[in-house]
Amino acid sequence: MGKSETAAQAWLERKASVRVSGGLHARPISEVIRIAKGYDAEVELATGVQQASARSSLKLLLLGVKEGDIITVRGRGDDAGLAVDAISAFLERKDTETHSPPAAPPASQAPAPTPETASRKADTAPSPVVGTPLTGVPVCAGVALGSPFVFQQPKIDPEPAQIAPDSIAREQARARAALNAVSQRLREAAQTKANPSSAMVMEALADLSADEDWAEAIQSMIAEGNSALAAVDATAESTARQIETLESDYARARAEDMRAAGHLVAMALQGKKPLSVGDVPAGAVLVAEELTAAHMGGEDLSHLAAIVAERGASNGHAAILARSFGIPTVFGLPGVVNAIKKARMVAVDGATGAVMVDPDVETNARLRAAISAAAEDRAELERFTTVKPVTRDGVSIIVAANIGGVNDLDFATEAGAMGVGLMRTEFLFIERAELPDEDEQYQVYRTVLERFPDDDVIIRTLDIGGDKPCRAIDLQKEDNPFLGLRGIRLCLAKPEIFRPQLRALLRAACHGRLKVMLPMIATVDEISETKALIESCEHELEREGKTYGPFELGIMVETPAAVFSADALAKEAAFFSLGTNDLTQYVMAADRTNPAVASLSRPENPAVIEAVRLVCAAAARADIPVGVCGEAAADPVLSAVFLQAGVRELSVSAAAIRRVKRQVCALELRETTEQDV
Ligand code: PEP
Ligand code: MG
Repeated sequence: MGKSETAAQAWLERKASVRVSGGLHARPISEVIRIAKGYDAEVELATGVQQASARSSLKLLLLGVKEGDIITVRGRGDDAGLAVDAISAFLERKDTETHSPPAAPPASQAPAPTPETASRKADTAPSPVVGTPLTGVPVCAGVALGSPFVFQQPKIDPEPAQIAPDSIAREQARARAALNAVSQRLREAAQTKANPSSAMVMEALADLSADEDWAEAIQSMIAEGNSALAAVDATAESTARQIETLESDYARARAEDMRAAGHLVAMALQGKKPLSVGDVPAGAVLVAEELTAAHMGGEDLSHLAAIVAERGASNGHAAILARSFGIPTVFGLPGVVNAIKKARMVAVDGATGAVMVDPDVETNARLRAAISAAAEDRAELERFTTVKPVTRDGVSIIVAANIGGVNDLDFATEAGAMGVGLMRTEFLFIERAELPDEDEQYQVYRTVLERFPDDDVIIRTLDIGGDKPCRAIDLQKEDNPFLGLRGIRLCLAKPEIFRPQLRALLRAACHGRLKVMLPMIATVDEISETKALIESCEHELEREGKTYGPFELGIMVETPAAVFSADALAKEAAFFSLGTNDLTQYVMAADRTNPAVASLSRPENPAVIEAVRLVCAAAARADIPVGVCGEAAADPVLSAVFLQAGVRELSVSAAAIRRVKRQVCALELRETTEQDV
């Protein structure tokens, strides 16, 4: 530890080589602040050009310290030596990130069978919701009746930007109170969040709202005659812009955090509370302009009666999440928020896309009858939980679960899943402010494998891009993100993200029957390149003395290129899994999230069916198994066509497992004819 004399007081200082992965981003910054607050000393971090108080989230962020940088940690005051040592030690430890254990699964995520909701098989009975002027895109089958809840973040009311001199003190107090209220609420929310990644985002936002430099900048703008709202808006925006100029992968996410914190404080200034899905009352119909996977990821949706939204399409990821909870859902209804806002009751038929505002007595009666029929159907379905389905002509079929993370495991096992046919690992990454590291991923994959000791678990490598952006990955803006750096393309372009995932998978492979699959494959080279990376990760683990196991490597067939080169790909892949959501999108050249082309984006289109048949034929020639993990796997008609073509595994959301098993048991594959399509 060196000593230097600055101004009147002695600074104790030492150099620290930053080894925190990713450098000084939100989570390590929170930790530095936490450590600094444990001492009385004044502590600063300094690069060659600037310095920042160790208690200022914003200043630390703006230092732009990267992993590998050498910085100075200095302090003055009685316990300065201890404080400097503690912070330096934290920065210099490689695995300094504090790991939260994977979220404990909630008691049950099964959609509560409320008397007002019911799942109903599509196309098997006339809709009880008729005569309605509103028809949207059917997303998740089931009928429901409930009062509407408009899910809209409160808007900020305009306020005069300038204030009179005698209002300055009042506005300053108002700003201080709003900042305090936001940081306190966020800290409380972080404590109660079951999902560790949401908790970390909240902690990071809480630190920003408690930042003294931001508070000071706001106070001085108000002193110059600006209103509290104008000061909050302007300072948040200018800081966000400053952050955006940093050369860091995390910069964009941090700038968004800054804007989000600004919006929260602006709401608090006007006494408004932000909404989360958990605030929607049980049994209500959630009505929104748009719901993204980020809005819904990590949230328990089982208390909702139904979901209705202006935008969104049946194959988007918000739709997939709604289906995983079995919530009757309709998207693609422009103007529905206004149309429904004042209604007392809303009837929703997720199978036909019909939505009726304040249904008449007759519709009400029909709905209640449909709801009780569906309750009986649900009871009948229970017995399929333990069934291992075999078609009437003796073909055994695996019905596995599509999951997004450990939170879905209870729901999947309770429903009788025969393993996992698709784990979408991106949900582990999407809403995070920082990427999960290898150890955290290893724990999650291991937990999933251990829940299915006797069944195959297929984990898909990261599929970011398209309609799945990721806060922590700095993706360049693309004009056509669905045709851009998505899935395997992104992983191969960013080995610093891909390698930790492959290493985590290799280590987890010792704990179960792991199969790994690659999304968005278009060429044989993509598989070869991945295999080379896997081999290099194996060598690395071996050198480090870490235990790892083998896994089978398969691919998703989602692109026309994969269909037409299926024979070549089958030589390199241990199995195929048909991703019919994307396959439909790319075969039909119809954006899966755009309701305007929803009628084209349908997996039953003969072109898509033909693609499936070509792939099954190639798989049969190469003698490798083929499954379907796209949403069409749960469709009663299409699943029969797929099985007849040679598919032997259907992987569906947990809510559909029993129903799909029942469908399989009723099938005679030899009987299924083309006219069924
Ligand atoms: C698919 O495309 O069918 C699929 C299962 O992948 P995702 O929906 O996650 O893109
Ligand atoms: Mg896909």
